[in-house]
Amino acid sequence: MELCDAHCHYQFAEVPYAAVEQARADGVGQAMINGSAPSDWADVAALGRRDPRNRVSFGLHPWDVPTAPAGWEAQLRAILVAHPAAGVGEMGLDRWVKDFDPVAQEQAFRSQLAMAVELDRALTIHCVKAIGPLTDILRAAELPRRGFLLHSWNGPVELVAELAKLGAYFSFSAHHLIPRKADLRVQFAAAIPRERILVETDAPALCPAPEFRLRELAPDAAGIEQNHPSNLVRNNAELARTMGVTPEASAALTSANFARLFGA
Ligand SMILES: [Zn+2]
Repeated sequence: MELCDAHCHYQFAEVPYAAVEQARADGVGQAMINGSAPSDWADVAALGRRDPRNRVSFGLHPWDVPTAPAGWEAQLRAILVAHPAAGVGEMGLDRWVKDFDPVAQEQAFRSQLAMAVELDRALTIHCVKAIGPLTDILRAAELPRRGFLLHSWNGPVELVAELAKLGAYFSFSAHHLIPRKADLRVQFAAAIPRERILVETDAPALCPAPEFRLRELAPDAAGIEQNHPSNLVRNNAELARTMGVTPEASAALTSANFARLFGA
């Protein structure tokens, strides 16, 4: 059984490479490593050179929009052209983060979306408290032919069918293991098309509750718990339980979906 992590950040200092190697020993195969700002794109690219299972995406995260350097769009285009198999992301909309600027976020979103369309890349979208504005953009814009990932999906069930028709994939994360998010877990059981389901860690972010951890990372300097890449194994087990299938079947399903979205 080999798992594919649809969304993670192995480039962050909180993830020592030994943890990535441990995850590989625990059954994690390919992992889509998402850059979040020009300052970490070189580290993401270096991880891609280190192991072909380290897949790469480059993007500007909505949290990083306020501090993006002038000319970031040209830098993004250049690194995407230099990495023909790379995706675009992590990008998105976030109306939860302090002092968000919806106009600047939407501008950055639209320019990255247009680049993904033009260069025919898969797109990874972060969306928090902004599903309405996000859906409005997706309804009206040209979208990447290969589709897009709504990472750690957290929107209402009423939108699932329409978003799937537009090309959305939906990833299951530790967010869905929180008891008060049971309604989202139900969506993975009953509403989201099986051929659009992926599984992710977002490591080192989204650390699950202790009972869902396979392994531990050291907390960061502020004492915040970090999510070990190996915890994908437990996320997959919970997704399998949610769908009423074996972990092996869930691994096969989500790996096939990963390959269709991101390319083999
Ligand atoms: Zn992320």
